[in-house]
Amino acid sequence: MLKVLFAASELTPIAKVGGLGDVAGALPKALRNLGVDIRIVIPQYRAISTPSKLPGSQVPVYYAKPGKYFDRDLIYGYPDDVERFTYFNKAVLELAKAEQFEPDIIHLNDYHTSLIPTLLKTRYASDPFFAQTRTLLTIHNLVNQGVADQDVLQTVGLNGSSTPNLGWDTRDGDVDLLLQGISEADLVVAVSPTYAKEILTPEYGAGLEGKLAERHGDLFGILNGIDTDSYNPATDPNIEVRYSLANLERRASNKHSLVQDLGFSNPEYPVMGMVSRLVEQKGLDLISEITKDLGKLPINMIFLGVGDKKYEQALSQAAQSYSNIKVRLKFDEAQARKIYAGSDFFLVPSRFEPSGLTQMIAMRYGSIPLVRKTGGLADTVFDNETGLVFEGYRSSQLLGVVQRAVQLFGDPKEVKRLQINGMKRDFSWSRSAQDYVNLYQRALKMPRKKL
Ligand code: ADP
Repeated sequence: MLKVLFAASELTPIAKVGGLGDVAGALPKALRNLGVDIRIVIPQYRAISTPSKLPGSQVPVYYAKPGKYFDRDLIYGYPDDVERFTYFNKAVLELAKAEQFEPDIIHLNDYHTSLIPTLLKTRYASDPFFAQTRTLLTIHNLVNQGVADQDVLQTVGLNGSSTPNLGWDTRDGDVDLLLQGISEADLVVAVSPTYAKEILTPEYGAGLEGKLAERHGDLFGILNGIDTDSYNPATDPNIEVRYSLANLERRASNKHSLVQDLGFSNPEYPVMGMVSRLVEQKGLDLISEITKDLGKLPINMIFLGVGDKKYEQALSQAAQSYSNIKVRLKFDEAQARKIYAGSDFFLVPSRFEPSGLTQMIAMRYGSIPLVRKTGGLADTVFDNETGLVFEGYRSSQLLGVVQRAVQLFGDPKEVKRLQINGMKRDFSWSRSAQDYVNLYQRALKMPRKKL
């Protein structure tokens, strides 16, 4: 039986900030169903529940001791974040030993666990416990690289001269943890085929395109799935009325109660939702540019999210000026699901999008996504088939696609066609999980790389 240790900084439903948490909470379940002995390790943040199994599954979860780095209220957002997660890399390896779980593969996720391959090749190089262990790094987002003064390496007993890559990386005094993972992991996976190609270009590579190109032969794209048990309109306890393709007419009650709850004055308008971190990556700069135009369109907009103050303010201001724009500045899982179930359209105008989950959840719930053609959005939403797509990252194009949605709404047959197409798509993890198993097997056949 293949033994995999899945190391991450987030885990839905225990500690979620965004898509990484959702992946950590769903992919291991699918891998276990394929016969993989997979176990998850996350930090024990303050005030999280610590079940020994991932809820709704038999997947064991281990917790790195809270200590000074994790006994805190938030998952991210501290000045010493990079130091905290540098430490986490060592904690993961020590926990594997304490639990006597000798992994064939350590599955790393983002910068928070990217130093593990370096540790395996240095401090743990002669440790028989990890003699067979190979590593696979999944990149969920290339923008957060974990860059800090190289002094953080002391947390795990490394320094700038510990490896040639660290030496190269710390020429400017800073270490880049994600760069270390990209350079030293046995295999590297981006979370969609399109993003795997995009990150080789300067536009999307965030300065790491050169390093990624060096690993070209070991770089793959595997599309994320969603947890289709949890995101299921037929069973979701958070929504007003449950429904499926077999009784789609029931869905209307969810729109009705969403419109009532939010207090829209024109209930006959289409509802367009957005559930997102409010940051530039997600297209908030474009949205800010067109709030005046949105305010005049026959469409009800609801934005749910937290993020950069300037975008929170811009949206709040728009909501004050226009009665068809509502904003809820909070992280609220139940409200998010009410929006997926009650909206006619769902907006994802990202500048870049490694995979994106919200467009898949929206389609699962019968809300038609409006997306920009990039990354995982390009791999999951097809224009005039399952959604509406625009290409150029320009506010005029965004406004154009919203106007198309307003027009489409006048043709209920067409709305239904796109809606049904989306709901019929399979966004479960089963296929992508098998792709990961294939890569695990591939990694195991690779000769162990030395420094
Ligand atoms: P990212 O990981 O870049 O933030 P994804 O699309 O991969 O984006 O995943 C976002 C996840 O976080 C989805 O499950 C989405 O529903 C959820 N989410 C984002 N913002 C909020 C919010 N304010 N309240 C509830 N859920 C949210």
